[in-house]
Amino acid sequence: MSQYAPAKKSLGQNFLVDRRIVSRVITAADLASDDIVLEIGPGRGILTRPLAERAASLTAIELDDHLAAALATEFASQPHVRIVHADAREVDIASVTPPDTAYKLIANLPYYAAQPIIRRFLEAEHKPSMMVFMVQREVARNMTAVPGDMSLLSVAIQLYGKPRIVVGVPPRAFRPAPKVTSAIVRIDVYPQPALALDSIDAFFTLVRAGFSAPRKQVHNCLQQSLSIPRNEVETILSEAGIDPRRRPQTLSLDDWGSLYGAWRLRYPDTHADPQSLRENKPHTGSPRATR
Ligand code: SAM
Repeated sequence: MSQYAPAKKSLGQNFLVDRRIVSRVITAADLASDDIVLEIGPGRGILTRPLAERAASLTAIELDDHLAAALATEFASQPHVRIVHADAREVDIASVTPPDTAYKLIANLPYYAAQPIIRRFLEAEHKPSMMVFMVQREVARNMTAVPGDMSLLSVAIQLYGKPRIVVGVPPRAFRPAPKVTSAIVRIDVYPQPALALDSIDAFFTLVRAGFSAPRKQVHNCLQQSLSIPRNEVETILSEAGIDPRRRPQTLSLDDWGSLYGAWRLRYPDTHADPQSLRENKPHTGSPRATR
């Protein structure tokens, strides 16, 4: 009989059981003996053990109280390993990362919370230098999309780093097996966002408005979501060098940067509601100050 309690679906517990996939994650992270690693959701420790062998220090954040306690006992004799019982969506990032020192984030993420966790660490003051994680393949494809297939998620990820899919992972690599195929993604995080923006929140107000109806032409999306008159929208798009008939998914990150610059010149006081940005909900209510 297994020594572990049954997997909790509510915590996204699909445990990795295929050691070849463990090796692919470790190899993708290019670990060196002086690396500082943050693992999210260590679970039963299949990634934690090889990470502990290779890294100079490892902090692992686990929400499940039984799994966190079992790992704390297992690693008690290894002072370079710290198990933190916490929610990665809320944990104080400064308390689990070394000040002013680069670190790598490695995870087989719980799928229900994967996007908020990734966004949170990418937007953090002290970001990881690299992320290697497992997510659903569809999400991975979305993150790594190129103009033609871009979305709010691809813009949000590619603003902060260069993502690539390392390899697809079939459901049989996990117990219990999820219904969908997964993928390992590596993001090489930029020291600074790829676009110089005066307000990240305002930028995402614009991008979210642009993607409010992906099948519509971009001028319609902006006109309706930002309540800007049609002739104003056309002027802004023309100043940004963007054909108003284009669909939002065809715009590159640089196009969004140009559009933001042109929009911001005319509407410098537009702010976003940071909470609705995180939750990817339409922005409602009157503009208000951010961060
Ligand atoms: N790393 C292990 C593996 O590869 O087998 C477990 C991966 S499993 C997909 C996700 C893990 O994240 C589970 O151990 C789960 O309890 C934990 N988890 C779920 N939600 C979490 C959260 N919000 N913060 C931290 N850990 C979480």
